Amino acid sequence: MQALRWHAAEDVRLDEVEEPGDPGEGFALVDVAYCGICGSDLAEFRDGPCLISPDAHPLSGQAPPITLGHEFSGTVSEAHPGSRFERGTRVTADACWRCGDCDECLRGNYNWCRYGGSIGLHSDGAFAAMVRVPEYALVELTDGVTDQIGALAEPLAVGLHALERPSARPGDDVVVLGFGPIGAASAICARALGAKAIVVEPNQERLARAESMGFDTLAAGERLPRRVRAALGAGGGSIVIDSTGVAAIVSDAIECARRGGRIVLVGLSSSQSSLDGRRLTLFERSLIGSLGYRHDLPKVIKMLETGQIDASGFVGDVVPLVDAGATLSDLASRPDGRIKVLVSVRG
Ligand SMILES: [Zn+2]
Ligand SMILES: [Zn+2]
Repeated sequence: MQALRWHAAEDVRLDEVEEPGDPGEGFALVDVAYCGICGSDLAEFRDGPCLISPDAHPLSGQAPPITLGHEFSGTVSEAHPGSRFERGTRVTADACWRCGDCDECLRGNYNWCRYGGSIGLHSDGAFAAMVRVPEYALVELTDGVTDQIGALAEPLAVGLHALERPSARPGDDVVVLGFGPIGAASAICARALGAKAIVVEPNQERLARAESMGFDTLAAGERLPRRVRAALGAGGGSIVIDSTGVAAIVSDAIECARRGGRIVLVGLSSSQSSLDGRRLTLFERSLIGSLGYRHDLPKVIKMLETGQIDASGFVGDVVPLVDAGATLSDLASRPDGRIKVLVSVRG
C-alpha cells in the first residue's frame, strides 16, 4: 500500500510499504476513510524531528521513517480474537500511546504517561489505506457522525481539553489566539460549552473564515491586550487560549486575561518564551499547560451526535492521498484559510 512517510524535515514521501498484516494481541487494523492534516504534522515537516524521536519508541518499537497521520476515521478490518470491536465497526482513535502501568496511567492521566507517544509520530499513522493501532485507542463512531466529521473528533478533543483545563463554563469570555486547526477547535468547543469566543489571528483568510463561522474576531498586532479589553469590556478574557505556538506571544496572552483569568498554552512553540511573573501574581492570573487530551474523545463524539458541537465550516478542503505530501508542504510554508484539510484515503 502507499503511505505518506516522514523521513526528515522537508522530506516526506509517498512510499510503497507492506500492509500491516495480522494485528496481534491487543491491536486492531483500521481501513482508513479520512485523516486530517495536523499542525504537528506541519511542524515535523518544517522543523522536525520535533515530537518524532530518532530512536525507537519504547511502546511501539518504531523509529523513522514513520507514516504520519493521527486524526482519522475508518472501519475496523481486523481485530484480535476476543476484541470488543467487530469487523466493520466505524471508529476514530485516541492518538495517545500509553503504557497502562506507570503512576499516571494508573491514575487515569494517560496523556501524562512517562512513555507516552502518538500514533502517526511514534508509530505508523493513517496517511495510508490501513493503520494498525492499540485497541485501547479505538472509539466507536455513532451513526450521526459521518466519516468526515469523525476525523475531526481528535482535534476537537484537543480543543475540549484546552477548555476543561481552565474549567470553562457558560458565560466565559474566551480569547482564542490563532485560528489554525487547534485555535478553531478551541473556538468551536468554547461555543459548544456556552462560552463566548473571540478569535485573534494575523492571517486575513483565516480571520475571514472565523467570521464566516460566526465568531467575533480581532486582527492580531499592535496593542492587542488593549484592543481585547476594549472589545470585551471586562478587563480582558476570563480565559485565554494560546494556540499559536509563537513564543513571543505568551506575554501578550497573559495581558489579554482579566484579573483572575486563566491562560492556557496549547500550542507548542519551538523556542523559549520570556514572561514577567509579576503580571501573573499582581492580577492573580493562572498560566496552564494543556497536552492533548484524556477521556475526551467519547465526549466529543456524543457532543457531535447531539449537535452540541457544530463543526460545520471546520473542514476547508479534502485532498486525495496522492496530493497529501504537496498539500503538507504548501500548508507548512504558507498557512491559509482552509484551516482543517482532510486527506481522503479511499480516493
Ligand atoms: Zn493533531
Ligand atoms: Zn504510563
